[in-house]
Amino acid sequence: MPIVIAASGRQRRKVRFTTANQAPKPGNTQNHPIRPKVSTSGRLSAASTTTYTDHQSLPRPNDEMCEPQVQPGVPVLFTTPPLLLDALVTETSEVQAETVNKCLPFLKGIHSTQNGPFNRFGVPALTRDEHVAYLFDSLEDYPEGFVAMDASRPWLVYWALAALSLLGEDISRVRERVVKSFIPMQNPTGGFGGGHGQLSHCASSYAAVLSLAMIGGEEAYSLIDREKMWRWLGRLKQPDGGFRVCEGGEEDVRGAYCAMVIISLLDLPLILPPEAEARQHGLETFDSGLSAYLSRCQTFEGGISGSPGSEAHGAYAFCALACLCILGQPEVTVARCMDVPLLLSWLSARQYAPEGGFSGRTNKLVDGCYSHWVGSCWPLIQSALDGAQPAAGPKQSSVGNLYSREGLTRYILGCCQAKFGGLRDKPGKYDLPPESVVNGASAD
Ligand SMILES: [Zn+2]
Repeated sequence: MPIVIAASGRQRRKVRFTTANQAPKPGNTQNHPIRPKVSTSGRLSAASTTTYTDHQSLPRPNDEMCEPQVQPGVPVLFTTPPLLLDALVTETSEVQAETVNKCLPFLKGIHSTQNGPFNRFGVPALTRDEHVAYLFDSLEDYPEGFVAMDASRPWLVYWALAALSLLGEDISRVRERVVKSFIPMQNPTGGFGGGHGQLSHCASSYAAVLSLAMIGGEEAYSLIDREKMWRWLGRLKQPDGGFRVCEGGEEDVRGAYCAMVIISLLDLPLILPPEAEARQHGLETFDSGLSAYLSRCQTFEGGISGSPGSEAHGAYAFCALACLCILGQPEVTVARCMDVPLLLSWLSARQYAPEGGFSGRTNKLVDGCYSHWVGSCWPLIQSALDGAQPAAGPKQSSVGNLYSREGLTRYILGCCQAKFGGLRDKPGKYDLPPESVVNGASAD
């Protein structure tokens, strides 16, 4: 049985976190054909002529022997496996086929856990109340199995606050607790660690600064020691233009993106502190050599890797593109530093059919969290291609939508919503607050 988080003084306490050791095993393949069966039966064209209003559920057949009917309005693209398959069967192609088979009943709206309502396009509703309850509960205590995530506490706070804000919830009621939680995480030498006594890290500092900015209030803003933060970031700046994620740690585009977000949100001086070692290599400002460093992270595939010479990855692509958009106008910085057609080609290949969701890398499976990482690349690319927009009046887009918003919406709402609230990576995987926000951020 999943562990139920203890309730204290709140109305809803039904959210359950599955502990890590209860997570479904990846190799569990029973009842799922290895190769997708391409079926031409049951296509929807006839069913879709029936008119159903928004929020109306399709009646379920009483006869147990009857094949469940696909929800009206779901295009055939999302109900059948791909028609073209690589003849070479590998472990990768097998798990891909398994994933498609697991997603199809959810995309069709016929899985036993889907009770509706569905809209006239066959898309299940966002179970908002369950998600809100889940997210507020994710700010409470965790079962012991989560001890491994102790250093991720700033992230857990950030993801929950971000998702609740996106859902329009009032987060001010947790302000005092959020501020108190971050006080011991800030180090006297600058930056925030994952918890009391932990080394300052770019990722935890990013999560802390964003959380405090979201929660707002004088107490939250004045908590951050800006000067110490500036000096600490100065120690992370590297001679090649990039940033380490922590002192003595690895250098990658996460460090660069998080540092530039912090510098920009806290309005820190762009000039490097006098004692910064990068100064001895001729660098004077935090952005010195940075766009050239990010440019070197684009790979032969067109995607962007964590550091020059590594594999292209959706989350790093977002970090690099977002960092370029902080450094200047997207139509200038992205166009100057990236091979945009190649990047578009790689990004487009991240979205799969029939699943509709994104994968993070070539030959990987769809995963809800890339709804955020890869999904967030699109508006950045779009603004790079559209160029500066008039301050007033309608936007002038020359490129339109560059990915299938419909596919992504179907994946998130159909495949990722968990029974007790929260969003999951994919059917068969357990839900976590990070997946909830990064999925939900894109489910507009
Ligand atoms: Zn994920």
